Formats: sequence, structure tokens, C-alpha cells
Amino acid sequence: MPEPRRLAAIILAAGAGSRSGGVMPKQLRPLAGKPVIARALDAFADHGAFADLVVACPPDARAATQAALGGRAVIIVDGGDTRRASVRNALEALSRLAQPPSHVLIHDSARPLVPAAVLDRLIGALADGASGAIPVLPVADTLVLAQDESAGGIVDRAPLRRVQTPQAFVFDAVLAAHRDWEGAQEPTDDAQMLRAAGHAIRLVEGDAALEKITYPGDHERMERQFASALVSRTGLGFDVHRLVQGEPLWLGGVEIPHSHGLSGHSDADVAIHALVDAILGALAEGDIGAHFPPSDPKWHKATSDRFLAFAVERVAARGGIIDHVDLTIICEAPRIGPHREAMRARLATIMGLSPAHISVKATTTERLGLTGRGEGIAAQAIATLRLPAPALD
Ligand code: MG
Repeated sequence: MPEPRRLAAIILAAGAGSRSGGVMPKQLRPLAGKPVIARALDAFADHGAFADLVVACPPDARAATQAALGGRAVIIVDGGDTRRASVRNALEALSRLAQPPSHVLIHDSARPLVPAAVLDRLIGALADGASGAIPVLPVADTLVLAQDESAGGIVDRAPLRRVQTPQAFVFDAVLAAHRDWEGAQEPTDDAQMLRAAGHAIRLVEGDAALEKITYPGDHERMERQFASALVSRTGLGFDVHRLVQGEPLWLGGVEIPHSHGLSGHSDADVAIHALVDAILGALAEGDIGAHFPPSDPKWHKATSDRFLAFAVERVAARGGIIDHVDLTIICEAPRIGPHREAMRARLATIMGLSPAHISVKATTTERLGLTGRGEGIAAQAIATLRLPAPALD
């Protein structure tokens, strides 16, 4: 039986999502710390069988979608006025590749949780020679016909199935179905178009995890499902750098005018260094020196924002959320208060968080010790994360 020679996936993020509430398009809202669209895309990327991934988004949301997807390798195409037009644009983009796919899966980003087992079942149906395959679930609720405000006859639910996405197709067949479509009514999925073109569609078992974010409250409900599986972790960071004349002073990602600056191998931003160690501590992934050794010339004069961005990426890679960070800068001078909000704003930008989750405080040591004598600046930080519970062994 033929294995799919080359698989692609199309993820639709072009809907306005007007029914789900919220000010941000639903596919860009963070779900447990990761945008909905990125969760959907990662399900396909992590599966490993897909050579090309295409996202269709509204033309005016291209930059926001790109930002939500970070550095993920993906082809972005413009969505159209209808679901069908968006799929068509994505299919045409795939057809123009040097190596077009043999098979394609088409998925709605509003279903961000895609079990690998469902992908395996769909790919299995294609390998078995099906022109198309869709995941379905039986209908559990009793169904009635609505007649004004009273219930009419019972509908026999036994032969009914709820249709989910992703839907899987032979690429040439779905492309032809789109190019030749002349239906009077706008189809709600691609399987309808394949059936109209005379193809049989195979049904495979769907999964409750594929529920769609449609109505207000759906997103929050899904967020709670994630949060209940996470455990809280705390990390502590501490750092000191020496104050010298003739160096710029970087603190909390902000350059501060001062007679002295901090010396070190990098830009010596002692506040960010403490913060990075706090986050790495909560992850139990070593310390800043282990990841960015001062002995490595690569980090000479490096700006510390990249160290912090790395730590934040590690949290995302572990499937975690940063709930809060609290930073204390310890020095006699300069005064930190006038720069506090600029630091919170800059740290928020680097970390992709709201400033509401970032606290910056300052204190002196009453002219005692190394910070009291102005020999250096110290900083300490604490980070509170939530991470997937470790497996018990
Ligand atoms: Mg340091």
C-alpha cells in the first residue's frame, strides 16, 4: 500500500472569530502561554510526517500571525473572504512548490489540540488508498427538531456523526475539487467538495480533544484544562557586577545615564542576569554561566536581552507559563525609581509578557558592604512558573 510520498498541512487562521468574544482574533490569543495558532501548528510540526506547513491568515493580520509563530518554519498565505477561498490560496501555494505534496491535511486553527493518534489514523487511511478521510465522533446528546419554542420530533442520532478537522486528502483530488467547484451553496468543509466531485470519504475516529473554540467561554475552559495539568515552580537568581568608570550602565534592559557603568564580559546587566538565573532555576536547567560561558568569545559584549529571550524560550519549549517575576536591584546610586517603568516595559517586551507580571524594586544597603561603598551593583530575582508535572519515576 502506498505511503503518502510527501505530506503537507494547511492551517486556517483566516476567520474573524466574531462568535468567541475577546478583542484579539481567537487564533492569536495565548492559550496556556502559547498562541492558539502556534499550538495547532506545533501539533503538526511535532508529529514529524509533514514536509510543508502552510498558514492562511487575513492579509491585515500577517505581521501579528508571523509574530505569534515566532521562528517556526511555515509558508504564510493570504486568507480569502470565505473558508473555501482561504483553502484555495493555500492549495495553490503548495502546487507552486518545486516539490508539491502528494497528500494534504486541512485543519482549522480554532481546534488547537490535535492528538498525534488522530493524525496517524488519517495518514493510515490515505496510505490505505482513500482519496479523503475525516475524523468523526458519534452524537451523544438526544436530538430534537426545534419548532418555534417547543420541541418537535426526536431525530434518530444513531446514523449521525459530528465532523472535525483535520481532514486528509489526495492533493491533486482536493486541488481539482477546489478549481472545479461550482456548488451553489458555500461548503463548510473540504470533504463536501470531494464528495461532490465523486470521491468517497473515509471516516476515522475523532477525538474529544479536537473541540473547537467557538463561543465565549470556550477559550477559558481550554485554558483551565491546561492549567490543571501544570505545577508551580519557583527559582531564585542573584548576581553582582563591579562598577567602573567609562562603561555604559545597563540595568533591566535599559541604558541609564550615570558616572559609572558595570563591567563584565557581556553588557553586565546585573538585573537581567539575576532574572535569567531565576527562570533557569525554576526550570532546573543550570545557570546563565552554563549556557553562556564567559570564556566563550561569542558572548563578549553581548546584550543581555538575548540571554533573557533564551530563558523565556526554554520555558515555552517545556510547555510552561511564566506567572510572575520580581526583581530587586541593590545599590546606593543611581536612583532606580525614575527608570522602574521603563525597565518593566522593556523586560515585558523581551519576555512577551504584560508588565503586570513583572515587578522591579530597589533598595540600598545603608552604605554598608560592596554595594554601600559603590563598588558594585547587586540584583536578586525570583521567578514563578507553571510547568507540566514531571513524570513520577
Ligand atoms: Mg552576571
